[in-house]
Amino acid sequence: MAKKTVRDLKLKGKKVLVRVDFNVPIQNGNITDDNRIVQAIPTLKYILDQGGRAIVFSHLGRVKTEEDKASKSLKVVSERLEELLGKEVKFVPVTRGSELEVAISNLKDGEILMFENTRFEDLDGNKESKNNPELGKYWASLGDVFVNDAFGTAHRAHASNVGIASNIKDSVAGFLLEKEIKFIGGAVDNPKRPFVAILGGAKVSDKISVIENLLEKADKVIIGGGMAYTFLNAQGYDIGTSLFEADKVELAKNLLEKGKGKIILPVDFAFTDKFEDKAPTHVGPITDIKEGEMSLDIGPKTLELFAKEIKNAKTVVWNGPMGVFEMDNYRKGTIGVCEALANLKDAITIVGGGDSAAAAIQFGYEDKITHISTGGGASLEYLEGKVLPGVAALSDK
Ligand code: ADP
Ligand code: MG
Repeated sequence: MAKKTVRDLKLKGKKVLVRVDFNVPIQNGNITDDNRIVQAIPTLKYILDQGGRAIVFSHLGRVKTEEDKASKSLKVVSERLEELLGKEVKFVPVTRGSELEVAISNLKDGEILMFENTRFEDLDGNKESKNNPELGKYWASLGDVFVNDAFGTAHRAHASNVGIASNIKDSVAGFLLEKEIKFIGGAVDNPKRPFVAILGGAKVSDKISVIENLLEKADKVIIGGGMAYTFLNAQGYDIGTSLFEADKVELAKNLLEKGKGKIILPVDFAFTDKFEDKAPTHVGPITDIKEGEMSLDIGPKTLELFAKEIKNAKTVVWNGPMGVFEMDNYRKGTIGVCEALANLKDAITIVGGGDSAAAAIQFGYEDKITHISTGGGASLEYLEGKVLPGVAALSDK
């Protein structure tokens, strides 16, 4: 379903409510990864250039007690935003009331303010997270139009996205949300073929619906990472102490049966006797595994096999690291998949999922991949084929 975007609105002189996802990691008061702020800049710049009056807001972490407020304030985020925009961002340290209302009425065309963490409202009966009708209506009353650019929150129906959208006539997508829908939605609904899906990460149980959906849509499904071992066990192999979910063996068998000729599993592995960052004791096929050993990465033959499958693809969707990429000794598989994607000349390559996106950026592939999603959970639910409530609530074209 095509949704209206910020381009469809006249913004001059309008009070523009802008929901962003600035739920960024903060350690000791410092933002350690500002990617989500950076990705929202084009939408904010556009609104201000058009003469809109931007009222920006986001959630940040979880707010359960009064004490959480100090570490979950968006003030430090508004300062980073100010640097990135090169323009004053007035920070309003509340989520409602006269201080906020006065600050909004003082805004001039092309000016921007940001108000406090929407989840401060959760202290009073989870109003934000439970989409309290009064709260959505109140926030909607503060603006003339609503722009939602918070893809990372689109899988949740909260007051600050769905609540506002259901109380305002013009609710549209920002550029980031539009881009996420275009690439992830495009790949899943209408991919250029061959369409190859690469799935990995920790557990089968986290990804059942993703595997099932992509098994239907993709031409090939490559499986690596921790979840591969439950599949190998389902084929009858001894997998030692590798990651394993006994209650998912039957499911893995069914998926292997259903995905015959489509599913590709690893053929060699990096074995070790301890879950720690030391060199693998040996590398080889699963039948080489010794008692008490586990595999923490795929091996070089597997990478060759995967690269061969990926080489002909016109669309690649990747979710889930191929090994324990947090350790120097077990990131070769994940880097190898990044490299295989980067080498594609004429294909759309998409990375979704929190850890996979972080890995692709950490290993320097940000500019070599078509789209790295900013939504961890949201991108997964989108890959499952689910309707995202934050998107569904926006005005149709
Ligand atoms: P995403 O966030 O991209 O969806 P997941 O959260 O499913 O990915 O999985 C990421 C985690 O999977 C990483 O912390 C990584 O260490 C772990 N992992 C990958 N391969 C293995 C393995 N062979 N054994 C144990 N953990 C693994
Ligand atoms: Mg994860």
